Amino acid sequence: MSQDPNCIFCKIIAGQIPSRKVYEDDEILAFHDIHPWAPVHFLMVPKLHIPSMAQLTPAHEQLMGRIMLLAPRLALEQGCRPYPEGGFRIVANTGAEGGQEVHHLHVHVMGGPRPWAKG
Ligand code: 5GP
Ligand code: ZN
Repeated sequence: MSQDPNCIFCKIIAGQIPSRKVYEDDEILAFHDIHPWAPVHFLMVPKLHIPSMAQLTPAHEQLMGRIMLLAPRLALEQGCRPYPEGGFRIVANTGAEGGQEVHHLHVHVMGGPRPWAKG
């Protein structure tokens, strides 16, 4: 399944729902979260509709590696201060008990001054 017509992130990827784009290539899209809980808060998604981390297979190894390597670069570009004083947080909610609401795999990247990041 490459795209799911009922998936809100597939619609964003297809340009059917607008988003504030941070980065795009053949297989990855990054866009600002509509309800940010940090001064910098964007989402990184594979363009492939993968419901969550739980469905990853070895075939996705390079894709997920690319997302992880891109995250620090995009975080800096979006205004996170450099490591070690600055930095960012990465979260991938997975499943109901993991707090996942949108079932298209996404990585939250959050940063900026810290009052938001207790706990
Ligand atoms: P989850 O709880 O599934 O990890 O997070 C889903 C995230 O997607 C939430 O932080 C929510 O604000 C964000 N989100 C949901 N719908 C939209 C949308 O239509 N556009 C954007 N940019 N973000 C969305
Ligand atoms: Zn999707």
